[in-house]
Amino acid sequence: MKQNPDNTKYIFITGGVVSSLGKGIIAASLGKLLQARGFRVTNQKLDPYINVDPGTLNPYEHGECYVTVDGQETDLDLGHYERFLGVETHRANNITTGRIYQNVINKERHGDYLGKTVQIIPHITDEIKCNINLLGNTGNFDFVITEIGGTVGDIESLPYIESVRQLKWEKGKNCLIIHLTYVPFIAAAKELKTKPTQHSVKALQEQGVQPDILVLRTEYNISAEMRKKVALFCNIEPEAVLQSIDASTIYRVPLNMQAEKLDEVVLSKMGFDLRQVPQADMNDWTSFVEKLENATDEVTIGLVGKYVQLQDAYLSITESLTHAGAYNNRKVKIVKVLSDNITNENVEKKLQKMDGIVIAPGFGSRGIEGKLVALKYARERDIPCFGICMGMQAMSIEFARNVLGYANANTTEIDPNTPHKVVDMMEDQKHVLNLGGSMRLGAYPCKLKKESKAFQIYQKEEIRERHRHRFEFNNAYRADFEKAGMLCSGINEESDLVEIIELSDHKWYIGVQFHPEYSSTVIHPHPLFVSFVRAAIENRMSKGEHPK
Ligand code: GLN
Repeated sequence: MKQNPDNTKYIFITGGVVSSLGKGIIAASLGKLLQARGFRVTNQKLDPYINVDPGTLNPYEHGECYVTVDGQETDLDLGHYERFLGVETHRANNITTGRIYQNVINKERHGDYLGKTVQIIPHITDEIKCNINLLGNTGNFDFVITEIGGTVGDIESLPYIESVRQLKWEKGKNCLIIHLTYVPFIAAAKELKTKPTQHSVKALQEQGVQPDILVLRTEYNISAEMRKKVALFCNIEPEAVLQSIDASTIYRVPLNMQAEKLDEVVLSKMGFDLRQVPQADMNDWTSFVEKLENATDEVTIGLVGKYVQLQDAYLSITESLTHAGAYNNRKVKIVKVLSDNITNENVEKKLQKMDGIVIAPGFGSRGIEGKLVALKYARERDIPCFGICMGMQAMSIEFARNVLGYANANTTEIDPNTPHKVVDMMEDQKHVLNLGGSMRLGAYPCKLKKESKAFQIYQKEEIRERHRHRFEFNNAYRADFEKAGMLCSGINEESDLVEIIELSDHKWYIGVQFHPEYSSTVIHPHPLFVSFVRAAIENRMSKGEHPK
C-alpha cells in the first residue's frame, strides 16, 4: 500500500563538534530499528561538497565510491544503508551541493526563474527541499531519514541547515531533528566534557534549528546526571539525550541504540502511540552480531590493493568479507597489502600467511605489477583468489603473460601500445569526453554457464551485478583463455562482454568484472564472498589447522 506523502515522516541527522562520528551508522541503525518495527524506511545523504558526485574523487579524499543499481556513484554511507536495511538505494538517495547548483543553473538557463534574481534562499534551499521531498513523494516510504554531511558551523552546510529549518516549519510533527555530537574524555582530569556539545547545539539554534534528540558519541558511559545537564543547557528533554558508546563492531550499534530507546523516543516524538506499534524484531540481526562477536577461529585474507593505507577505501569489500566470515562462523582477519611493494623476491614473505587473497579494484597504473606478482603466486600455489574489477583485469593480464606466453600483454589503460590488448577500452567509451559519471555504471544482467563454479555458487543462471569501469576483457582472446583452462563463465548476452573468468583446475580462482561487494548485506551476505571465505577456511584447514 502506498503511503500518503502528506503522512511521510522526515528525520534529519546533523553532526556537531567533529567529523567522523558515524552519522551514517546512526542513520542506518535508526533506519534498521524502524524497519524492524514494520515501517518502510529509506536513508538519504546530503553531501555539502561541490563535486556533482563522488565518482571522480580519489579514495584518499572521501573513501570508497559506492555505486547504486541505477548507476549513480555515491557516498560510502549509502553502502551502510544498504547493508543495514537490505533495501536498494538509488540516485535520489545521495545529493551533493554540486548537483543542487547544477540543477538550479540549468533551470536558470532554461528560463524557469525568468525575471528573478536567483539566490541561495529561496532557490538553492527550494532545490534542496525538493530533493528531500522527492523520496517521500513516491509514497513508498513511511520514513525518510536524511543525513546532512559535514559538521554544523561549516560554511558549506548552511543552506542544508536552512532547508531543514524550513522543512521543520512546514511539516511540524512529521519532521524531527537528531543532532549527533561528541563528548570527549579528558584523560588528565578523568572527565567527560559536554561543553563542545552545548556549543554545537547553540550553533544549530543560531541557525534557527532546535534539535529534538541528542545522540552523544562517547568512549565511556554518560551518567543520568550528565544527560540531565546537557538536556537543561540544550532545551531537550532528558529522555531524548542518548549516548552512542564505542562498539566492538558497527553492527552492534543498532542494538545499542535500541537499548537507548532511540526508536521509541523518535516514535513518541512524532506522535505515534507506542502501544499500537509492533516491537522491533531484531532476532536475525542479533544472531548475526553474536556470530560475528563470538567467532574465535580465524581465517586470514590478504587484500591486495593500492589504497590500503586508508581504512575506508575498500569499505564494501571489507564489510562483505566480514559478513561472509560471520556466516561461516569465522573471524576474518583482513591483512591489507600495498600492491606497489610486492615483488617476485618478497611475495612469498608477504603472502605466505594468507588463506585467501583478494585483488582489489583500482584505476591507473600504480600498483598493477605487484598485483600481477600476487596473482601468479596465488595461481601457482593454489591459494583461493578473488579478483574484483581491476582485479579481474589483472587476472587476465597475468594469465595471458605467464600461461599463454603473451609477453607484455596488458590493459590499454596502462599501456595503450601493448601488442596484446587482453583488456581494452569498451567501444562506447572511446568517444567519452566527460570523465564524470560516464563509465559503465550500475546493475547489468549476466548469464552464467551451467558447468561453472560461478553457477554452483549463485545456484542460478541469471544474475544482476553492479559495474563501475571503462575497460573490459577483449573477446579476441576468449578462445585462447578457455583452451588453456580459464573459463569465461559469466557473459552479458546483450553486449557479449565477459563478466566472470575462473580457473577450472584451481581451488578457487575467480575474477569478476563487476562489484559484488556493493550488494552484500548483513541478512543476505553475497554468495561469492561466502564461497570465497569458505574456500579460504578449507585451505587453512588443509594446512593443518582444525576447528576447535
Ligand atoms: N580501471 C579499470 C576500468 O576502468 C577498473 C575499474 C575498477 O576496478 N573499478 O575498467
